Amino acid sequence: MTQHSTFEDALFRLKSLAELANLNHEVIEALLHPKQMMEVSLPLRMDDGSKKYYSAYRCRYNNYLGPTKGGVRFHPNVNEDEVKALALWMTIKCAVVGLPFGGAKGGITVNPKELSPMELERLSRAYMRGFADFIGPHLDIPAPDVYTNSRIMGWMMAEYESIHRTHAPDVITGKPIELGGSLGRDDATGRGAYLCTLELIKKMGWTLTDIKVAVQGFGNGGYHVARLLQQAGCKIVAVSDSQGAVYSESGFDIESLWQEKQQSKQIKGVYCDDSVCGIIEHSTITNEQLLALDVDILIPAALEGVITKHNAKDIKAKAIVEIANGPILFEADDIINTKGIKVIPDVLANAGGVTVSYFEWIQNRSGQSWSLEKVQSQLKEKMTSAFDTVWTLAENDGLTLREAAYVNALKKISRVIEAQGTRQYFVSR
Ligand code: NAD
Repeated sequence: MTQHSTFEDALFRLKSLAELANLNHEVIEALLHPKQMMEVSLPLRMDDGSKKYYSAYRCRYNNYLGPTKGGVRFHPNVNEDEVKALALWMTIKCAVVGLPFGGAKGGITVNPKELSPMELERLSRAYMRGFADFIGPHLDIPAPDVYTNSRIMGWMMAEYESIHRTHAPDVITGKPIELGGSLGRDDATGRGAYLCTLELIKKMGWTLTDIKVAVQGFGNGGYHVARLLQQAGCKIVAVSDSQGAVYSESGFDIESLWQEKQQSKQIKGVYCDDSVCGIIEHSTITNEQLLALDVDILIPAALEGVITKHNAKDIKAKAIVEIANGPILFEADDIINTKGIKVIPDVLANAGGVTVSYFEWIQNRSGQSWSLEKVQSQLKEKMTSAFDTVWTLAENDGLTLREAAYVNALKKISRVIEAQGTRQYFVSR
């Protein structure tokens, strides 16, 4: 049996949805080829005096809609193939929410948990040195992703500024507020997913207080969406991290779970002897069991490829909200659709992060600082309007939400490619 790579899987889906959008052949061809893919070997002087080398990547998928934009991931599994897939999804995502950006992504193959804070700073700065010629406020604007955060963005910005001897807060987003970051960026991805989920619940005629939710991946995206949905009245019955998952029929108090996780560093340690276990009945389950729970909404918020043709049949949720990029493989789409599960696709559900990154970039470029109220109300407007466009297209044309999101995005990108002239234009001259 041939196992497809993440990028191959992303291309299969792109090709199939591009045909659905009835795109010109030349446009489809243009979308299948990443514009730039770079690999750099980063030397890192360790605290004990030794030197290690780490592979680092940056892919600028295409810049038809504007400068490229995409996160930087620090994870042991980062590789060229994954980076290309993530950059492709960023391209579609920016188009779905109507941002003036193309897609990019980057990362370092490293387990950051094994580095000291000083090694982490040196490696983050080395990443920016490695790619400084390809990054820039008009060219390519990085942001945080898995296991990177605002402090790392701040180090990368400082390195870029020292290389170019200029002040350039608009070169990177997701920075600390003090260094030009935007209010509301920290919970933007979770909030965007929350806003989409609320819209879905309204459209489906469900009652918030009846809804049971399971969240895989209790990091930046997963924590905030769980917190906001719980505040809205939903019951969060399961959450997980890379070590495992916890389940409680009566639902967790997300804020206290989060506080405990910050201290013990893993969810399994949270509901232990003297913490909350005396208060809430719970059981420990695996990440695989979490995916198959009998809940209303399943939110994969960790890594790609967790729902495959092998486990898709076990999913019992009525809806899936993809905070992670690419959690459902293309090979599983048909099984999920046949089961009638509504999927809010990653390119829409997790677009809140890049949307507030866009707001941060605007603020940096214009010397403004928006209030939290302004950021959140503009985010709400962007997300609900994107959701509505996708929902209406899906209803009118009998498409899934993923199909509608891609069709909508691909048509926007294809208009730019066609404006530069395709075969039809040149042969008819
Ligand atoms: P994060 O590093 O803050 O959190 C990731 C969480 O997933 C952690 O709790 C980690 O323990 C958990 N995890 C890792 N491996 C796991 C596994 N095998 N099983 C279960 N849990 C596992 O990362 P994040 O920023 O929340 O990103 C999560 C996902 O959301 C990624 O796919 C990322 O690309 C996507 N995303 C993030 C943003 C953003 O702004 N942060 C924006 C768009 C998409």
